Amino acid sequence: MIRYFWRRFQIKMCQAVNNYPEFKYILENYKEICYNINNAKIKFNRENSNVDLMAVTKTVEPEKINFAIENGITLLGENRVQEYLSKKDLYNKNADVHFIGHLQTNKVKYIVNEVKMIQSVDSVKLAREINRLSAKNNKVMDILVEVNIGNELSKSGVSKEMLFEFIKEISTFKNISVCGLMAIPPIGSDESVFNDMHELFIKAGDMKIDNVSMKTLSMGMSGDYELAIKHGSNLVRIGTKLFGARKYLEV
Ligand SMILES: *Cc1c(COP(=O)(O)O)cnc(C)c1O
Repeated sequence: MIRYFWRRFQIKMCQAVNNYPEFKYILENYKEICYNINNAKIKFNRENSNVDLMAVTKTVEPEKINFAIENGITLLGENRVQEYLSKKDLYNKNADVHFIGHLQTNKVKYIVNEVKMIQSVDSVKLAREINRLSAKNNKVMDILVEVNIGNELSKSGVSKEMLFEFIKEISTFKNISVCGLMAIPPIGSDESVFNDMHELFIKAGDMKIDNVSMKTLSMGMSGDYELAIKHGSNLVRIGTKLFGARKYLEV
């Protein structure tokens, strides 16, 4: 069975590579990441858990993104509203899109019908606006609560101390569904930071709050995804390791 899918995967890959030989490195990176994810699952006794791979697309050209989708990527992560709106019509529609960047309340209207999930909810004001516009559009938006796990002044996210209160408060909004937590551990974080995040995730799930299901722990980027998998992550968000170094500086 696995052999069969692997073979189909290889054939598909060859077709895509032939169309874009210059993008072959993306495929090599993709294979390496999948291999590492699998190895991490085995090494950390998580063989039976699903770990999803998100391709983070900031500054990446649509052709490269589509190449990744043609080769098996099924989930994209977008950081910036303007950039996404300018690129989205060119995307292959076979991948879901999650918003993962800092989101201003006044920009929710542009993406509420364009993404499957908003991972970066970090204020009641933002949650309220997502709820309002989702209701207006007859939908329920899946969201994750972003946690400022490194307690960094410059970073967004709800503090550890406020997290449970925050979840309780936004759980009353009927047109959002709280599906889990998202975090960006500071570069070079001690392992305990990842472990703290995992504990918060488990505790929040144990609280059994109505309208809250702690299904997704979105944690781990190019430099730390294996460590994140060790500590319970089931969604890793990878940019640089997949597409190569980004072209311009991040704002
Ligand atoms: C850019 C970004 C990533 C990916 O970072 P890499 O180190 O390039 O893998 C993941 N998550 C968020 C929220 C990002 O902004």
